[in-house]
Amino acid sequence: MKAVHDIVVIGGGLLGCALAWMLARDRADIVLLEKDQINQHASGQNAGSLHFQLEYRMMEQGLDQARVAAEAMPLHLDSAKRWARLGDELGESLGVVQTGGLMLAENDEQADLLYAKSELERSWGLDVRVISGQELRTTAPYLSDTVVAASFCPIEGKADTRTAAPALARGAARLGADIRTRSEVVAIDRDGSHWSLTVRDGHGAPDATIHAATVMIAAGVWTTEVGTLLDVDLPTVPLALTMTATMKTAKFIPHLIQHAGTKLSLKQSLDGNLLIGGGWPARLMIDDAGNPDFARKPELLRHSVAGNARAAARVVPRTGNIPALRTWVGTTTVTPDQLPLVGPLAGKPGVFVATGGSAFTLGPAFAHVLVQLAQGRAPDMDLSAYDPARYARLQ
Ligand SMILES: Cc1cc2nc3c(=O)[nH]c(=O)nc-3n(C[C@H](O)[C@H](O)[C@H](O)COP(=O)(O)OP(=O)(O)OC[C@H]3O[C@@H](n4cnc5c(N)ncnc54)[C@H](O)[C@@H]3O)c2cc1C
Repeated sequence: MKAVHDIVVIGGGLLGCALAWMLARDRADIVLLEKDQINQHASGQNAGSLHFQLEYRMMEQGLDQARVAAEAMPLHLDSAKRWARLGDELGESLGVVQTGGLMLAENDEQADLLYAKSELERSWGLDVRVISGQELRTTAPYLSDTVVAASFCPIEGKADTRTAAPALARGAARLGADIRTRSEVVAIDRDGSHWSLTVRDGHGAPDATIHAATVMIAAGVWTTEVGTLLDVDLPTVPLALTMTATMKTAKFIPHLIQHAGTKLSLKQSLDGNLLIGGGWPARLMIDDAGNPDFARKPELLRHSVAGNARAAARVVPRTGNIPALRTWVGTTTVTPDQLPLVGPLAGKPGVFVATGGSAFTLGPAFAHVLVQLAQGRAPDMDLSAYDPARYARLQ
């Protein structure tokens, strides 16, 4: 008789590893399939910001756009709590520090936006307020005089992207989860009352078949591609992004820094390096058919690195004196309406997906609600705004 596992998780980024760990804690029989290595893609390449305020890209088009993006706030609030206790529950440090985040304004228009978006966020329950004058200078003496106000959110912070997903994968394995790397899911078929997945071995062994009652898609930028294996449209928008890390320097920035009027995220790692990012683009590679080619590294753009560095040095002048150590690129995914895709796939019993947006920050909340759904329990929050089928309904 063929073995039918309880759950197969597709993808070994932060989400897949968090899912495997949470499900294994619940004694489910889990197989995690990762086509490359654990944490090889966005989850290991990102800036590690735990940002719970609305981000610049969610407000770039004004407050109407921000109101839509704010519908993800229940996920932000849930994730903030989960990150705070994840390391203790797992028994390994994930480098989580939640000492607060500041979103900066350098003129009156940006300050007005901060007041309006903070009011919106407070209406969803986020602890955030705008500070200026002496309070701002005392809170963040490292900021330049060009900064006139900042919205301060005490639960924001950072986590270590190099260690978070691997630690969760180790935790899952300790609890009995079967973590398989170099294992790419290339077909998914219904087989009676369960799913049958064809798995390609990265070392060249013949394809294997794995059977499971439940399938969790945690495939990041490959989500749309995995959706096609099930004949389901899961629209995502890939973004290639740039990061810079400076040499180590004495600790002077305890906060996560973002900006209300430009792409910027800035923080100091636990080792002392400044991590500079915030959405400056890299160039996605395109294949012969005109589709994004995620197998090839995006091209680093000189003007993105320079623009990002200038934005950082303008608001935190000391940044300009610290040499860059390295730059890198990575690819992530957002959705057409900026809200994540989280939930079951209509017409595909036992198949669930989550992706989109700042899914490092939101990963623990995504994983938690998917686990609840897989267990047949009502999720802690209303997921209708994140329904993966919402775009199909518009057609
Ligand atoms: C430069 C950069 C900076 C960012 N900064 C931040 C930030 O500061 N804060 C934040 O919250 N977010 C940030 N993000 C976004 C964040 O990194 C991603 O949203 C998050 O890591 C996605 O995690 P994931 O586990 O869903 O996907 P991934 O980490 O992409 O993992 C998906 C995995 O699925 C595997 N996979 C795909 N298809 C298959 C298949 N068919 N079979 C088997 N395996 C498969 C892939 O190989 C991959 O390892 C940033 C992204 C980038 C690129």
